[in-house]
Amino acid sequence: MKWRDGRRSSNVEDRRGQRQTRSTGGSFSPMTMGGGIGGLIIMLILYFVMGGMGGTNSPFTANQDPVVTNAQEDELKEFTSVVLAYTEDIWHELFREQGLVYEEPRLVVFTDQVESGCGFQSAQVGPFYCPADKSVYIDLSFFSVMESQLGAEGDFAMAYVIAHEVGHHVQNLLGITDEMNRIRQSVSQTEYNRYSVALELQADYLAGVWAHHVEDFGVLEEGDLEEALNAASAIGDDTLQKRSSGRVVPDNFTHGTSEQRRYWLYRGFDYGDLNHGDTFAEIIQ
Ligand SMILES: [Zn+2]
Repeated sequence: MKWRDGRRSSNVEDRRGQRQTRSTGGSFSPMTMGGGIGGLIIMLILYFVMGGMGGTNSPFTANQDPVVTNAQEDELKEFTSVVLAYTEDIWHELFREQGLVYEEPRLVVFTDQVESGCGFQSAQVGPFYCPADKSVYIDLSFFSVMESQLGAEGDFAMAYVIAHEVGHHVQNLLGITDEMNRIRQSVSQTEYNRYSVALELQADYLAGVWAHHVEDFGVLEEGDLEEALNAASAIGDDTLQKRSSGRVVPDNFTHGTSEQRRYWLYRGFDYGDLNHGDTFAEIIQ
């Protein structure tokens, strides 16, 4: 991707080197996306309770160490802010065409662990989007994991990951995330996993829609699309399960198979519109 001359987004927040450690007094489990606002309120209550008990001031202590960075990660951060800026330009336009207004997400880069609107999260969860604070969270070291451990090489593989997370933001703005939370209350875990697969494949589709339009800026290079498709395959549920346990358990799929991820990403790239991404109709029967 020819990204160096691109605009940098002003929505990137650099929290690298800020090590937020849990105090010994607290025993919080990281809240998942479903925790949302409710979780935040519980945390605030605990904050006051614990303060009142005369122990620690806060369940979390944020050591404001000077941001320790290296040149490679600084460049990745630059790249990330350019990709984010392209998502802003493109989604503003696509929303405008629908008579809607696009609200830009924030993107937080962090090291190892982070306090988010969806609770305390470790980098092990991978890049994630939190609907409660409309933010994408990325530990930049994930990009080297992709390359060295998953064989997903190239800058456009990274662009795809960012565009996928922004795809979740688009779903949030369109009310799809709220609908998912409602469904979660009324179906079994196995059934919900199928909805999760549909949601994730739709984020892949939306990443493809973005890639279609970024091509119009003349920044794609030979092989870029293939890098993204290869990355989508590399993080398919079946491939990851095989890699970690040697066997495949379709009921536990939450993101879709390698083939499905590749298919929906390509479909989004092919159509470049919002009318061909109804993954729910295809997955939930
Ligand atoms: Zn996702």
